[in-house]
Order: sequence, then C-alpha cells, then structure tokens
Amino acid sequence: MDLERIAADLEPELKGKIFLREPMKNHTAWRVGGAADVLIAVKTKRDVGLVIKYAMEHQLPYIVLGNGSNVLVLDKGIRGIVLKLAGGLREINIAGQRVIAEAGVRLPVLAQKVYQHGLSGLEYLAAIPGTLGGALIMNAGAHGGCIGQLVKKVTCFTSQGETINLEEDQLKFGYRQSSLAQEKLLVVEAELFLQPEEPNIIKARMDKYQEERMKKQPLNLPNAGSVFVNPPGYAAGYLIEKAGAKGLRKGGAQVSEKHANFIVNVDNASARDILELIACVKEKVYETFNIQLETEIKVLGEG
Ligand SMILES: Cc1cc2nc3c(=O)[nH]c(=O)nc-3n(C[C@H](O)[C@H](O)[C@H](O)COP(=O)(O)OP(=O)(O)OC[C@H]3O[C@@H](n4cnc5c(N)ncnc54)[C@H](O)[C@@H]3O)c2cc1C
Repeated sequence: MDLERIAADLEPELKGKIFLREPMKNHTAWRVGGAADVLIAVKTKRDVGLVIKYAMEHQLPYIVLGNGSNVLVLDKGIRGIVLKLAGGLREINIAGQRVIAEAGVRLPVLAQKVYQHGLSGLEYLAAIPGTLGGALIMNAGAHGGCIGQLVKKVTCFTSQGETINLEEDQLKFGYRQSSLAQEKLLVVEAELFLQPEEPNIIKARMDKYQEERMKKQPLNLPNAGSVFVNPPGYAAGYLIEKAGAKGLRKGGAQVSEKHANFIVNVDNASARDILELIACVKEKVYETFNIQLETEIKVLGEG
C-alpha cells in the first residue's frame, strides 16, 4: 500500500487532515493502540463520501472511529484507512423539539446545547465521552435511558458509498447494540426528538449524574468505560469484585480498585496487557459464578 500516494490523491479533495502511520493511542480513551496506516480527520459529510468512494475504487479497507472511547486498538495497529469523526461533522440545528446533529458532535457538547434550549432527554448521556455517531452504534445509555429512545431518523453511508435515511421504524436498538452496527452502516447525522423542560431542572439532573460518576468511576486514569456488558440480572462490576479480580494487574493494565468493571491504564499498558486481563477476569468470574462475561468494548486492528 503506497501511503504517500493515498495522501497525495486525497489531500486536494478533502477539507479534513490526513495523517500517515498515526499512533492510535493518540486517538483512544485507553491511550493504547499501534499505528493506523492512514488516519483521516474528516471535517464534512462530503469528506466521508469521498474517502469511502476512494477506498472502494482502490480496494482499501476502512473503519470509522468516533472519539475512541469504547474501542481497544491492537498493538500492530490498523491496516488501511481510519475515518475519524470526532472533531469534524459538528453541526447542530435545533427546531422546536427536533434536534438535527452531525455524527461527530460530542455527547457532552450536544447535551449542554439542548439543555440551554430547554430540551430534556440527553442529560443522562452528558458525561459519556463519545460522539453522537458512536453513541447510536452502541446505543449508549445510562441512568435508565438510552439514545435509541430519542431517535427519529438517521442518515448513513452504506459500504457501497450510498447515502440512506432510516426512519425510526426502520431502526432497532437493544442493550448496547443497534441494527446500524449489525448492518455496518456509517452514521453521519441523526434527528432526535426531545421533551421541553425547565433548563434549571435539567441542569440539576445533569450535575447529579456527573457527581455520581466522579464518585464511582476512575476518571483520573485512561479507561474505556465499562469493559463488560451486564449479564441478565447482575452488574458485571459486582461479579468481578466478588470473584476476587478487583485490583488484578497485567503489565500496565489494572482492574480498577474504584469500579471493577473498568480497566485502567496505569503504566503505559499495551493492548495485549488489556486482552490478557480481560481473559483473566472472564475466567475468574466463570469459575466463581458459572457466568460467561461478554465485552462491551470493540476490538479493532491487528494484534
Ligand atoms: C469514562 C467513560 C464513561 C463511559 N460511560 C458510558 C455510559 O455510561 N454508557 C455507555 O453506553 N457508554 C459509556 N462509555 C462508552 C462510550 O463512551 C460509548 O459507547 C460511546 O457512545 C462511544 O462513542 P465513541 O464516539 O467514542 O465511539 P468509538 O469508541 O470511537 O467507536 C465505538 C464503535 O462505534 C463505531 N463507530 C463510531 N462512530 C461511528 C459512526 N459515526 N458510524 C458508524 N460506526 C461508528 C466504531 O467503529 C466502533 O466500533 C463510557 C466511556 C468512558 C471512557
């Protein structure tokens, strides 16, 4: 793969910036991950369309990254192109109860903006450090709500480079999963429908959720949020703690002492350290409870 050629071809066409052999640890919340051949920090929906078309024409693999807050990029990095949306695709339009936002908008930014317009529904997502696109793919949620409940319409690119609009009744959202992910769609925009409420009341809820997180989560160390999904009827963190895995360490990665469903990067962890720790936690929980934990985080790249 001639990386300089790819950059030379695409640079004049794009508003976004191209990085070659870019360390992915600069783009992930865990601060882990080898280099991507090409990382394109796209700025507009047109940029996204052009990159997909180019990748198809040249048979190059590509993946999409939001803010990298729910991914583990492996140590040998990513072959082909990474389209990074966080930092680009940032438009937000509010008309009455309808909010149309591009997929690169960060959830805390969106939540702040809608609350100032007296719109409620996003305050429980305000402290999640992902983009709107990543949140839709994962059906991000907290405090009893999830983003899927608010969606009216989503605009995506298919892997063939076509733009499609999917209405509410064409979308399916489950616990940390969506039909968008299953169909491998690249989300570029969404329309949400929110409820009017007094801004001070929304703000008070937002502050309360934020405070709870500060107390419970190890936010001072690089992490990717909850590593495991909660199995039916249990909190994964509870099972991990009771299985004696809290504080367990592999290389530079450790099961957080503060919240057992978090793995923190305490000392320059590699993806291998984290994968080994995940395997060890799974084993301990299985031995103790006969329950097979499943990971929530998405593993990308080559090990
Ligand atoms: C401190 C902390 C707290 C967290 N708390 C929560 C929580 O309370 N609830 C919760 O649900 N999650 C939580 N998370 C996890 C994470 O923030 C969410 O899953 C978030 O929605 C991921 O968004 P992202 O933009 O970072 O996605 P990324 O991590 O960049 O990507 C996640 C997956 O989505 C894909 N993807 C990203 N953007 C797009 C797009 N536009 N189109 C198609 N595919 C895309 C990627 O390829 C990848 O497979 C937390 C994470 C951290 C670090």
